[in-house]
Amino acid sequence: MIDQKACYKKPDALNLNLIYNEMKSHFGFLNWWPGDTKLEIVLGAILTQQTSWKNVEKAINKMKQNNAMDFDYISACDLKNLEKRINNVSFYKQKARYIKNIFQFIKTRYGSLENLFKLDKKELRKTLLSMNGIGNETADSIILYAANKKKFVIDAYTKRVMHRIFGIDKNIKYEKLQEYFENNLKNNLSLYKDFHAQFVELGKNYCRTKPFCINCPLNKMCKKSNIL
Ligand code: SF4
Repeated sequence: MIDQKACYKKPDALNLNLIYNEMKSHFGFLNWWPGDTKLEIVLGAILTQQTSWKNVEKAINKMKQNNAMDFDYISACDLKNLEKRINNVSFYKQKARYIKNIFQFIKTRYGSLENLFKLDKKELRKTLLSMNGIGNETADSIILYAANKKKFVIDAYTKRVMHRIFGIDKNIKYEKLQEYFENNLKNNLSLYKDFHAQFVELGKNYCRTKPFCINCPLNKMCKKSNIL
């Protein structure tokens, strides 16, 4: 019989695959990102910063109802109008300004999201990160889910779970933790997408600030589990 705790010493290929399989068996395949179009995914990735997904959904629905879910509309829109559509998310004034500037830039430089996404992955990431309002997590969410290019997304849930399971430094640099995944995972876009989604589910449902380890699918292999 496998000593599961002994397996979880470092995040190598075996261990990452084990935790992914445990989470997937528990939550099922999650088919992320929640969004019907590339435009919705890009907007959702910006709006969700420091905001619950429930509020992002409301803002996106309001934009759809007002025929504002349109690339040309957003890149040329009146700032006050855009603020009104998204005023239920935190920092909506700042986000409206970022969104307008980001879409204006993409429209002028590339003409469309599809053209932007034709850039190679490295260039695309560099371009996204050069825009105000887009940091590492947002850029990588856009690259992975909207542009369909493999980039592992790191968020606060991922850092927390990796710290609790493997004892990884809580303050590990974004790129360093990303490297653990990208160096060890199979070259598979769907796996990258679903692995991140699984971490989000685990973080929302079990591995919260105060963890609920009793029903967590990783509790038998987690160093910080409070039930062992
Ligand atoms: S067992 Fe507890 S601490 Fe470990 S990952 Fe699950 S919820 Fe988090």
